[in-house]
Amino acid sequence: MSEVAPIKDCTGCGACTPHCPVDAITLDTEPDGFAHAVINDDVCIGCDLCRHICPALNPLPLREPQSVYAAQSKAHDTLMHSASGGAFYEIARAFQQQGGIVYGVEMTIDHSTATISHAAATDEQGLHKLQGSKYAQGSAYPVFPEIQRRLDEGERVLFSGLPCQVAGLQAYLGQTYDNLITVDIFCHGNTSLYYLNVYLDYLKKKHGQDIADYIFRDKERGNGYKPVAILADGTRVRMTTFEESYWYLFATSKFYRESCYHCPYASPRRVSDISLGDFWGIEKERPGLLKGTGGPLDDGLGISAVLANTPAGDALIRQTDLVLEPSSMAEVTPGGAAVRAPQEQPADRDKVLELFRAGDYAAVKKYCIKQQGRWYYLDLLSDSALVKAVKKLSGKAR
Ligand SMILES: Cc1cc2nc3c(=O)[nH]c(=O)nc-3n(C[C@H](O)[C@H](O)[C@H](O)COP(=O)(O)OP(=O)(O)OC[C@H]3O[C@@H](n4cnc5c(N)ncnc54)[C@H](O)[C@@H]3O)c2cc1C
Repeated sequence: MSEVAPIKDCTGCGACTPHCPVDAITLDTEPDGFAHAVINDDVCIGCDLCRHICPALNPLPLREPQSVYAAQSKAHDTLMHSASGGAFYEIARAFQQQGGIVYGVEMTIDHSTATISHAAATDEQGLHKLQGSKYAQGSAYPVFPEIQRRLDEGERVLFSGLPCQVAGLQAYLGQTYDNLITVDIFCHGNTSLYYLNVYLDYLKKKHGQDIADYIFRDKERGNGYKPVAILADGTRVRMTTFEESYWYLFATSKFYRESCYHCPYASPRRVSDISLGDFWGIEKERPGLLKGTGGPLDDGLGISAVLANTPAGDALIRQTDLVLEPSSMAEVTPGGAAVRAPQEQPADRDKVLELFRAGDYAAVKKYCIKQQGRWYYLDLLSDSALVKAVKKLSGKAR
C-alpha cells in the first residue's frame, strides 16, 4: 500500500477515490479513525490521476473576503438550534426558497454510536437536521458524485462543510460551476468520529443507559460551549463546559487530525464563496452593535461572523432575512483564532492519542483533569446555584 498524499497532509476529503480508473484507492481509518487515502499497489496502473486531483498536493486558490458582516437570525428558535447566530440556516433557507438544494452535515446517534455525514435538504425540515456544529469529522465524499450530477443537470446546489471538505469537492469537480455556492466554517481543527464514539461509550457506561442524542452547544444556558447528553429514557444530562473534558481537548487542540496543524485554509483568505464563524470578541470590537448598548444584536444567544468572499456569496447573504451589520476582518480576527492561522500541535498530542487508542475515555478524562488543575473545579462550580446568584447580583448573568 502507498499513500496518495503523505498522511500528515491528507485531510481525508476523498476527492481522489472515485476518480481512480481501476478502483485502487480506499480510505483507511486505522488506527485513530482519521481517514486517509491509500493506494493498492497491486491494482494501481501508475496514472497518477489521484495525485493530480489531490487538494493537499495542489492547494486551491484562496480569496480575500470582499465584505464582512456581524449577523444574527431574527428567529429565537433558529438561534437556539444553531451553533452561533444562525447564519447557516438563514443563508440555506434563502437558497432553498430560490429553488436550490442544500448539502450540510447531520449527526445521528444509534445505541450511543454517532454517525456524521453530509446530507441533502430539500425542505425546511431537512435544514433543521443540518443545524448546529458537530465537533468531529464526518465523511463528505460520498455525496460528491450526486452533487456533480445535479450541477450538470443545471440544479442549484449549496454545499456547506469544513474548508478542507469544500476544497475536496472543488478538486473532485475539477471545474467551476455558476450554479454552485460553497460555504465553509471557521475551523479550529477537527477530531475523529472514533474519538467521539469512545467518549459517548464512556457516557453510556457512566449513566447506565444508551445516549440517544448529544448537543455540543446547548443554548438553554446561553451562548457558549455547554453540552447536553440526552439519554435513552429522555433524561437531559447537562454538563459544564469542561466537566467531561471533550471540550478541553478541543479547545487545546490536543486531538486534531495531523493535517489540521498546518491547514492552508485556517487563514483570513478563504476557499469558499461564504465563510461562517462565531463573532467572538464583538463586545470589545463593536460594543455599539449589542442590544445592551442599544444595538440590534443580542449577544446572549450567539452572533455570527459572515465573510462574503465572492460576488455570488455576497448576493446570497444580502437576500437572507438576517440582521446584517457591516464589519471588517480587523474586527473579526482578534477573537477568531481559526481565521488567523492553524493551531500549533501540542507537545502531548501523542500521549492523548495513545490514551484514546486504549479505548478508555475515563483514562483520557483523568489525564485532562490533571492538566487543567484548579480550573477544572472552578468550571464545575460555574453552574452552581451560588455562582449563578453572585453573577446575577453583579449583573453578569445572561
Ligand atoms: C469542527 C469545528 C470547529 C470549529 N471551530 C471554530 C472556531 O474555532 N471558531 C469559530 O468562530 N467557529 C468555529 N466553528 C464554526 C462554528 O461552530 C459554527 O459552525 C459556525 O459559526 C456556523 O454557525 P451557524 O450558527 O451559522 O450555523 P449552524 O447551524 O451551527 O451550522 C451548521 C452547519 O455547519 C456545518 N458543520 C457542522 N458540523 C460540521 C462538521 N463536523 N463538519 C463539517 N461541517 C459541519 C454544516 O454544514 C452544518 O450544516 C467550528 C465548527 C466545527 C464543526
